[in-house]
Amino acid sequence: MVEKLYHFVGGARVEGKSGRFAPIFTPMTGEISAEVPLASTAELAGAVANARAAQPGWAATNPQKRARVLMKFLELLQRDYEKLALKLALEHGKTLPDARGDIQRGLEVVEFAIGIPHLLKGEYTEGAGPGIDMYSMRQPLGVVAGITPFNFPAMIPMWKFAPAIACGNAFILKPSERDPSVPLMLAELMYEAGLPKGILNVVNGDKEVVDAILDHPDIKAIGFVGSTPIGEYIYTRGTANGKRVQAFGGAKNHALIMPDADMDQVVDALIGAGYGSAGERCMAISVAVPVGEKTADELVSRLAPRVRALKVGPSTDEKADYGPVVTRQHLDKVKSYVDIGVKEGAELVVDGREMRLQGYENGFYMGGVLFDRVTPDMRIYKEEIFGPVLSIVRAPDYEAALALPNEHEYGNGVAIFTRDGDTARDFAARVDVGMVGINVPIPVPLAYYTFGGWKRSGFGDLNQHGPDSVRFYTRTKTVTERWPSGIRSGASFVIPTMG
Ligand code: NAD
Repeated sequence: MVEKLYHFVGGARVEGKSGRFAPIFTPMTGEISAEVPLASTAELAGAVANARAAQPGWAATNPQKRARVLMKFLELLQRDYEKLALKLALEHGKTLPDARGDIQRGLEVVEFAIGIPHLLKGEYTEGAGPGIDMYSMRQPLGVVAGITPFNFPAMIPMWKFAPAIACGNAFILKPSERDPSVPLMLAELMYEAGLPKGILNVVNGDKEVVDAILDHPDIKAIGFVGSTPIGEYIYTRGTANGKRVQAFGGAKNHALIMPDADMDQVVDALIGAGYGSAGERCMAISVAVPVGEKTADELVSRLAPRVRALKVGPSTDEKADYGPVVTRQHLDKVKSYVDIGVKEGAELVVDGREMRLQGYENGFYMGGVLFDRVTPDMRIYKEEIFGPVLSIVRAPDYEAALALPNEHEYGNGVAIFTRDGDTARDFAARVDVGMVGINVPIPVPLAYYTFGGWKRSGFGDLNQHGPDSVRFYTRTKTVTERWPSGIRSGASFVIPTMG
């Protein structure tokens, strides 16, 4: 039975009216489980009108009361945790334990957003001039939007809407059309938690609705996460229309392995960070850079059996290392990169292309792939594959290894494995990448720090969550005030100097 999904506008489920739909798959079986309506420009305009009408009331609600809705939402997330995780795993493909992590890392940003009243406080200077006081306040932007990717259908929507709503904005969420069910469930929970109608709307769709968001004059800011070409497009068109835009893109995350690294720790770290979630994480390690031939030989000999032993299973298997990838189309793309790597002359140490899972023959599964002797001119090094494929690039020394992430066009995450504090410190200072791990393979900053890549992994100037999210979703108004009893100096024709 194919379920028909909907939009969520003005606090209610709304049927799609465009007549266009996209299929939603269950990657572990390959079956179609639902269809999602793809909104038209007119449907988006309806949602924006709704949000615009509701927003002033929400902005005028005191910040603590707004935060209390998020507190209640957290309780409801706990109540429905397993239901959400199961839906997420079935629609995305990641395993159930990993789906729980997806919810958890989003929920932590909701926890952060509960403290946002503290960050909304302005500045105040008493006596900035004779009888003059000056203060600033942070005000919401109005209606703002988030456009999110398929790979974290719970976490990234929450990264976006929780801070925006806590700051007093109304939010239009355009989730990935590949797994929109969890975002729809989250919106319903926000209303159950007491959010006024119209403050969080979910409008499903593809390029048509995204373009409508980019062009709508009442949408003041857009937070995007997805691939780099789309992110660049969103940033260019959105800012040309006068909007605030932050757009986070793709990645090619390197891990440097120094000769003094703890090899047991390295192998565990690379297996988890390279193959977890079938490599469909923007912070996955996709390039390992052992320094020196001895380190490289040891790394390959220890990694290869572990990659061959990876347990690929259906999303509902709690013991599987990872599940299927998101669609057949994506599976074909990842496999074609393996073909390209072989043609380019990389050494295919472990080949996962032919993996089949008994009982799940139509699922989108792929075994782990390990390439050795990859070089920087190869496409498999330059491009994001977003699958369970780890490439080893051998470097003769530390400087050559450091040059690799520094010269790569992406700059999302990076890690170094070493026991030497001087090397680690030098690396953290000189690497041209936004998020750095020292003996930590996936250095995703916690909710009260900020998340953002450099170079072509991020467009815009503020990061996601943490204090930057408050800066992104508010604007500063500065007031200079004086009262009739203050000093009267007559008309002045000179710029005020507070003298
Ligand atoms: P995607 O770029 O295909 O889609 C992202 C969003 O853009 C979706 O909502 C989609 O509907 C929309 N979109 C797709 N094509 C469009 C078009 N032509 N015009 C307008 N809108 C369009 O990305 P994805 O495949 O869903 O997600 C995977 C990508 O996201 C990877 O590149 C990954 O590295 C990246 N990612 C980045 C971060 C980060 O914070 N830097 C986090 C997670 C994922």
